[in-house]
Amino acid sequence: MPHDTAALRQQALGLLKQFYGYDQFYPTQWQVIEHVMDGNDAVVLMPTGGGKSMCFQIPALLSAGCAIVVTPLLSLMQDQVEALRANGIPAATVNSQQSEGENRTIIEQMYAGHIKLLYISPERLLTELDSWAKDFTISLFAIDEAHCISQWGHDFRPEYTQLSVLKERFPDVPIMALTATADKITRDDICEQLHIAGAQTFITSFDRPNIHLEVQSNLNDRQRLAHIVEFIERHNGESGIIYTSTRKSAEKLAKKLQGFAINAQPFHAGMPTSVKQNVQRDFINDDVQVICATIAFGMGIDKSNVRWVIHYNMPKSIENYYQEIGRSGRDGEPADALMFYSFGDVVQLMRQAESSGQQSINLEKLRRMQQYAEATVCRRRILLSYFSERSDHDCGNCDVCDNPPKRIDGTTLAQMALSAIIRTGEHAGVTAVVDILRGSRRNDIIEQGYDKLPTYGVGRHLSYTQWNHYMLQMLHLGLFEVAYNDANHLKVTDLGRDVVYGRRKVEFSEFVWRGPSKPKKQQASQPEVIFNTGDRQVGDVNSLYNELRELRLWLARTNGVAPYMIFSDKVLRLMAQAQPTTKAQFGLINGVGEVKLERFWAVFTRRIIQWRASNHLD
Ligand code: ADP
Ligand code: ZN
Repeated sequence: MPHDTAALRQQALGLLKQFYGYDQFYPTQWQVIEHVMDGNDAVVLMPTGGGKSMCFQIPALLSAGCAIVVTPLLSLMQDQVEALRANGIPAATVNSQQSEGENRTIIEQMYAGHIKLLYISPERLLTELDSWAKDFTISLFAIDEAHCISQWGHDFRPEYTQLSVLKERFPDVPIMALTATADKITRDDICEQLHIAGAQTFITSFDRPNIHLEVQSNLNDRQRLAHIVEFIERHNGESGIIYTSTRKSAEKLAKKLQGFAINAQPFHAGMPTSVKQNVQRDFINDDVQVICATIAFGMGIDKSNVRWVIHYNMPKSIENYYQEIGRSGRDGEPADALMFYSFGDVVQLMRQAESSGQQSINLEKLRRMQQYAEATVCRRRILLSYFSERSDHDCGNCDVCDNPPKRIDGTTLAQMALSAIIRTGEHAGVTAVVDILRGSRRNDIIEQGYDKLPTYGVGRHLSYTQWNHYMLQMLHLGLFEVAYNDANHLKVTDLGRDVVYGRRKVEFSEFVWRGPSKPKKQQASQPEVIFNTGDRQVGDVNSLYNELRELRLWLARTNGVAPYMIFSDKVLRLMAQAQPTTKAQFGLINGVGEVKLERFWAVFTRRIIQWRASNHLD
């Protein structure tokens, strides 16, 4: 149906302001909305936090009938619906966690035109469709987490493949597939499987400039723990997720953090469903601050105030890493991503990749991940180039940009290590080689007679941590290889022999344990609303922000909803900066829609007025 663009845009902006309190669409959001309102299919690729939901929610509100939103996780549908309802948007879900009576009532309301968005799982949708009234108007199908339909994606769900029938049965209803996974094979597969070959693809930049990136190499468990505790203390009460590679380490870490009086809980696939659901709920409601999880945690969690993510071990690909760190800072406020990385991680992941079905792809993915971890140039540039985006400047918000590493001549150190490897007859792993260099008295070193080698103890002046760091660089420079099929023994390459015989020099990036890299305090974002308040003083904005956070938590508890559903961190930050004291001013804050204005202006402005009075501001 052709439409009048200007009129449609006005109408859409009106809804955006009324329901969400926002003044502008992001550029791609508007393109998608217009495209779908013309009756076309679309594939939407945006990073987590990129604003995908608006692309189908606004068309749903603009159109007659009801939009069907397909999403994979039952446990989260309720949250998504509640968040919409909190903004006054008529949304609902039909699923097996509600009674069939409740489900019937919702379907009736839908027929009566009282519901604009229905959230449902793919399998449920397929069974429901047969019984739905023939003349019922579906405005569009939004397929969220659409990569689940592809075997090439990282989260294949067989139930998703049934969605291929939608286009045949509803040729005139637009289909919108949405995902945060960018790679081309998956994208093509989505179009093919949904039978929407003509769909236009919309891609936004995958950059998430608000996330500070940091990698710490070669810290042992004790050092990692100290680092994490300090990191969490710096993040004073803010929510975060720590990803570990095994269930056991998730549990152990949560216990240890509890020992430091940190409110942490484990989450992994081995726990009973009910326990997992409780942990997830407590996290969403800010009753648990830290989750120690295997990768089973986080998909589809819309919580916008996750402020940091830690990887206790290196993930196996950049896609995984990017998805996981993307769960922080969805509201666009500063967030922190920290990854630990060690020789042990690499060896373990290599072994897994070697024995996996798709060996060469997986090894290549791992190699790219390693390059990122070992980067001596801006990390964000590496990430963006991985997603085929060009960037012509350093980001200024990663640890490499914060402290560019010093290059040192590593030839002598490399010669020590490589000759030690050769002298063992290439029958030792990295631990033994470092022990030899450091002159360790460990039993097996003595038993093997390694203490008689000329290289025994020549590297005493460096710590284990330093040696591990340099060994890793040697591995990446290709000076030796790890024989995964031969007890992980080290084998010197031709390139390595060139170094041993003085035919080639090597450079290392110097190892300095810097301690936690403190992100530079980002320029506090300028208030996006300026109402005329004269030359009013604002005082300590952070202290007001913390007070508003407490108020939000209290309101959330008394209303039985998640704090971020009341207002996002970003909105609270704007409030703390702009300090509205009247209803009119409160309504000008970006992110305050009509429903929330009515419900919350009084309690928030009262608190702001009190705070200003007790701080003697006028
Ligand atoms: P995604 O589904 O892509 O991860 P969301 O749809 O959850 O992202 O949006 C991320 C955040 O950005 C949410 O807090 C949302 O309210 C906010 N947002 C979306 N569109 C806009 C907009 N046009 N202006 C301001 N904020 C927006
Ligand atoms: Zn950078």
